Amino acid sequence: MLKIFSRGFDFVRNNPQIIYTLFLVVAIPVAFFFTSEQFLKVARENQDRLERSRIGLLQDTFALFAREHMDEPQYLGEKIAMIVGANETIVNFRIVGPRSASDEQETLPIIASMNSAEEGTMITLDPQTGYLVSLSGGRDTQAYASEFFVNGARHWRSVRAITATSSSSVAGYVITDLSMAQTDAVARKNIRNAYATLALIIVLIIILLARQARIIDYATLYQRLKEVDQMKDDFVSMAAHELRSPLTIIRGYVEMLGETEGLSEKGKGNLKNIDHAALQLNTLVGDILDVSKLQEGRMTFNYQTIDVSGEIAGVVESFAKPARDKGLALHYEKQPLPLSSVDPDRFRQVMINLIGNAIKYTREGEVRVIARGDGKAVTIRVSDTGMGISAEDQQKLFQKFYRVKSVDTEKISGTGLGLWITAQIVRVMKGTISVESIKGKGADFILTFPIAG
Ligand code: ADP
Repeated sequence: MLKIFSRGFDFVRNNPQIIYTLFLVVAIPVAFFFTSEQFLKVARENQDRLERSRIGLLQDTFALFAREHMDEPQYLGEKIAMIVGANETIVNFRIVGPRSASDEQETLPIIASMNSAEEGTMITLDPQTGYLVSLSGGRDTQAYASEFFVNGARHWRSVRAITATSSSSVAGYVITDLSMAQTDAVARKNIRNAYATLALIIVLIIILLARQARIIDYATLYQRLKEVDQMKDDFVSMAAHELRSPLTIIRGYVEMLGETEGLSEKGKGNLKNIDHAALQLNTLVGDILDVSKLQEGRMTFNYQTIDVSGEIAGVVESFAKPARDKGLALHYEKQPLPLSSVDPDRFRQVMINLIGNAIKYTREGEVRVIARGDGKAVTIRVSDTGMGISAEDQQKLFQKFYRVKSVDTEKISGTGLGLWITAQIVRVMKGTISVESIKGKGADFILTFPIAG
């Protein structure tokens, strides 16, 4: 038991949001219960008071009338029948004679009654009603009432003395029994309605609670997923890191083997293939490491003010051979382009990606790099006459791992990470990147970097 309690306490402590719901579950029904109980109690008391004063008034009037006709029981009986006919809550209406001083039993003669059969008989009052008779004896301005139950139904008995016309002695009593069953039934119905509403509120709150519990579940799940995602990123980053050294060693040995004398043409070809595959793997590992660094904001930027045209020229130069091998013309007209706040290495990485892609995805024609500065910004356009990119693919081009799937691209290897990395680096260096292309007619990638004023 204690264990359950302490677990519950721990759960609430770990999920403070639940306190709000628990408060709703407990506080609202309790408040509702007290308010409705209070309201019904007041309503019932008011109803009782109203009924009593109504019957008191009736008795007052009837007592004044009855004292003139105490010797005409039949006439009184008729009048009683008229009154009872108009008051459905009256279950008994009697005029009884006075008690004799010697009468200790409180046995009184019934002079007139709504039940004419009991007229002329004697009524023995129970102690409670006898007490009322004693109280009202001699007083002509007050009716005395007391509550009693018949088969569980609430009743009120009121007794009012009738003073004789000639003297102030008591000529008899008006005894009226009133059934409160109807009033109580209304009150019970109200209570039932109130509890039904209360039950509904509790159900609604429990549904709310269940929903909230689900939200808490989702929040916990989300937290877990984030942790798993982080673990995955850490693993990928660590694995990529660890792959770097063996890859460098493989490429080193391939290079050494390539220098071995007397290597057959087939052997040379095999070595070239190994080197190509190792290079591809190296690029993939590099890209993965860059992605993880960019995602975690761990990529360092060493900002400098440089003439980026020199960097562009360097990259264009490094692609001269691959372009020539593919029979592509590669153009760049160098002109000074001073830029502040760029990291030269990262800037080169961007240019390598764009010029590399332009050559990779162009079968014939040319690749041209045009860079202009207008005092406000430097705009660099890398154009090619290659396969181009459809409008639909252009939308997704800068997403991680996105590669255009077509017969033209299926034989070209790549990771789909280059443009994502490029776009992130450009964004960090406050630049923009966009693409203009018509499928089959080549593509233009446009970079702009603001010149700090
Ligand atoms: P990768 O080249 O490794 O596949 P990138 O992120 O650099 O990845 O490029 C994503 C995709 O965009 C490529 O797979 C290619 O389909 C398309 N693409 C990029 N540059 C060009 C270009 N100059 N011409 C045509 N398609 C291109």
